[in-house]
Amino acid sequence: MRMTHLFTKTQKEPPKESESANARLLVQAGFVDQLMAGVYTYLPLGLKVLQRIQSIVREEMDAIGGQEILMPALLPAEPWKTTGRWKDPGPEVMFQFKGLGKRDVGLGWTHEEIVTPLVQKFAKSYKDFPVAVYQMQDKFRNELRAKSGILRGREFNMKDLYSFHTSVEDMEAYYDKVLEAYKRVFERCGIVAIPTEASGGAFSKVSHEFQTPTESGEDTIFVNKAGDYAWNKEMFPKMKDGDDAPDGSGPVKETKAIEVGNIFKLKNRFTDAFKFTFVDEKGKKQPVYMGCYGIGPSRVMGTIVEASHDERGMIWPKSVAPMPVQLVSLQSKDKTMQEKIENKSEALYEDFKKLGVEVLWDNRDMSIGEKLADADLIGLPLRLVVSEKTLKEDSVEWKLRAEKEMQLVKLQDVLEEVVTFVRE
Ligand code: ATP
Ligand code: MG
Repeated sequence: MRMTHLFTKTQKEPPKESESANARLLVQAGFVDQLMAGVYTYLPLGLKVLQRIQSIVREEMDAIGGQEILMPALLPAEPWKTTGRWKDPGPEVMFQFKGLGKRDVGLGWTHEEIVTPLVQKFAKSYKDFPVAVYQMQDKFRNELRAKSGILRGREFNMKDLYSFHTSVEDMEAYYDKVLEAYKRVFERCGIVAIPTEASGGAFSKVSHEFQTPTESGEDTIFVNKAGDYAWNKEMFPKMKDGDDAPDGSGPVKETKAIEVGNIFKLKNRFTDAFKFTFVDEKGKKQPVYMGCYGIGPSRVMGTIVEASHDERGMIWPKSVAPMPVQLVSLQSKDKTMQEKIENKSEALYEDFKKLGVEVLWDNRDMSIGEKLADADLIGLPLRLVVSEKTLKEDSVEWKLRAEKEMQLVKLQDVLEEVVTFVRE
């Protein structure tokens, strides 16, 4: 993509009222635009990041047998009245209004009330189970505090997976499978996300959250010595830093963290409410067991920024970066040299395109300082600079955003080296 073609622009100054690093950097770099508190437009570069995260989530959900569907966001009140959630939590969380001729309707903030009767229509015999369906959709929540950029939206993207089983054992085995799939999702997104014991609600002792340790997190967790398991403070209000872990694995470390995912054993909470049963081998009706599993791709995007930035800007992991390479052509005062820089850059850009390597080409007529500052702000993994200095050596300058060192790479080798970098 040529930067002169990109309709968004970076902002020199951080936006006012940017309480968190993700809001400040994503807005300043032109990845998102705030419409109101907790509601954002995803601009070309930001949308690409969101879509890359969604693709990783989709691949891992498909790998554990999830079938993708898309349920509506505009929902009738009746099923929520059946489960009691039209009133509790009710409007505290759900946007509710009259529509369609005075009918009660609301916007989806989760989808148990829709997915349970949906699967019930099709799954009747033990032969029809297990069933796992998921969707990726915008959810709406009347969040009181929507102050952390895209970490806590009032409209935000969620992947919600629901599974249905004929026994508690099968539900638990699938829960463990999802837990492993979640580990792969977050690892592939380039963030640490520690499985964390949290309260399971009314129907199960524990649930698991996936928590990314960072100063800006709203939650407090206690991490085990190995750093691969944690307990949410909400569950152990009296625990302190350095206390013995509940599993006897040594002292825990207290840290702030962001919840990027959450998995729950719902058992019969919703299936009972809708009288969802199945017929077993003997022709007898039996209860259906259910689990639900969420990930917020938009919150994951904000979390990556919180966990991976410096004073100059964002540092995108290759797996989710909008594109892997930023090609920067620096200006020269010499007219012939300027033309040479432009021509070499354009030739490189076209070659990358042919090779299927996505490149953001800074071909704008701007100062060297502004261009380099923008490259750091946008934070693509690899920066290539073409300038008078590099062309004298028949080279381009190669620098990884996450590292300090730069090196010169010969023009004749750069395509191959970039292809290797992108694929490795
Ligand atoms: P929280 O405790 O942060 O309020 P939650 O426990 O209510 O979240 P779930 O209902 O389990 O969250 O939602 C599943 C996932 O959706 C969360 O793990 C998180 O990644 C994401 N999520 C939840 N609420 C928001 C929000 N307001 N904005 C962005 N992402 C969200
Ligand atoms: Mg939570």
